[in-house]
Amino acid sequence: MNLFIPDIYAKNVFNINFNKLKENGIKCILFDLDNTLALLTEDKPNNEVKELFAKLDDLNLKAIIVSNSRKSRVAPFKEVLNVDSACMSMKPLKRKYKKILKIYKYDVSEVAAVGDQILTDVLGANKVGITSIFVDRLSPEDKLFTKLNRKIEKMILKRLNKKGIYEKEKYYGN
Ligand SMILES: [Mg+2]
Repeated sequence: MNLFIPDIYAKNVFNINFNKLKENGIKCILFDLDNTLALLTEDKPNNEVKELFAKLDDLNLKAIIVSNSRKSRVAPFKEVLNVDSACMSMKPLKRKYKKILKIYKYDVSEVAAVGDQILTDVLGANKVGITSIFVDRLSPEDKLFTKLNRKIEKMILKRLNKKGIYEKEKYYGN
């Protein structure tokens, strides 16, 4: 199995079919923060994100923010959205995912992870065996380290494109 291939590809977090995920047995969604839930310039969740998280609450889907960023970056989102969070997660390493599965007692089949990066969000989720959801980044602005990852990501996506697996904005699996 190619660990770089997302199970689901959606335009953004608002276009994910959470009802269907729930029907398929998903109980918990791990959300990346930067460029997935918020622009780098946003220091707290906007109204659209707040509404999304209220909807998840209604669906009884547990949302957890799992970010590689610092605590100070993640904290305002955790507070306003009133969700659990993990910072400095070192995605794509398995450690934090494993810890979350253990703490909340979820099976891999019950968790999905959403993010805008193949090399961290998708790879990490696929390595652990949870459902991986790839979304287009909110903005072309990336952090310095991410810029390096994007170069590699570009090559990976190009290869997947040649195999007919991935095409930008050709969303699937939702
Ligand atoms: Mg991100």
